[in-house]
Amino acid sequence: MERIKGLIGPVGKYNLHTHPVYCDGKDTPAEMAKAAYDRGFQLLGFSGHGFAPHDLDVCMTKEKEEQYRSDVLALKEEYAGRLDIRLGKEQDFYADDSTAETGMEPPADFPYDYLIGSVHYVKKDGVYMSVDDTAEIMERAVEEHFRGSVRDYVECYFETESQVLIKTKADIVGHFDLVCKFNDTGRYFDESAPWYRDCAIAAIDRIAAAPSTRRSGIADFLGDGGKPVFEINLGAMAKGYRSIPYPSAPLLARIQELGCPIVLSSDCHDARKLDYKMDEFEPLQ
Ligand SMILES: [Zn+2]
Ligand SMILES: [Zn+2]
Repeated sequence: MERIKGLIGPVGKYNLHTHPVYCDGKDTPAEMAKAAYDRGFQLLGFSGHGFAPHDLDVCMTKEKEEQYRSDVLALKEEYAGRLDIRLGKEQDFYADDSTAETGMEPPADFPYDYLIGSVHYVKKDGVYMSVDDTAEIMERAVEEHFRGSVRDYVECYFETESQVLIKTKADIVGHFDLVCKFNDTGRYFDESAPWYRDCAIAAIDRIAAAPSTRRSGIADFLGDGGKPVFEINLGAMAKGYRSIPYPSAPLLARIQELGCPIVLSSDCHDARKLDYKMDEFEPLQ
């Protein structure tokens, strides 16, 4: 695998997309911080799954979220001057009932340095269906709610994805084409088909045109420019589902063409994979 040329974005060893034990990760925040420090990271951001009522198996409960915040803030102090620790959260698109018009309104005392905005579900006929769980759940969703049309299912996903930043007001777009998680061999749809490219690229263009939502807690690292930040997400590779990262190369090319910054992430659920394959995707500038 070749390193990718012309990426705009931070350089060095860092990971902003990590899940400790408070959601679906394996390790405590302290264990992850130690792993990052031992590997010579300059920055570690925690991004536990924020509370989402339809997603209770994966997300933090409100009580766990409080504990998570205090753990991470304590580590921030403990590692001050040695490892830059930031408090983030991965915010699901359907975490609340707000619409894309109003967007989610964070409370005045919002403690997070940054948010990753992610679509993990498609919603149809009032039903939430995970795009991230198993191939069988995806197949059932297509059969029961999209009249057997994978194309309709994928288009519904990208229509949702296109609103991810307006709705979540996040700083980073998480795993842009997660809908391909179970499609590594082209088993369900052809990612080079014009309809696929059209709906995916329309979603990128719409995200890139949305107003910037960069928070001050991360602007020093990501830059405070107006363009939204996408990630190269190695999580599905780390778990053995995919042979390529999100997003696929043609979609990444469009993101680069629009001048949007890119961060590298391993969507880490296991401290041993904190920098999984990151050296292969390091930006070449
Ligand atoms: Zn996610
Ligand atoms: Zn994640």
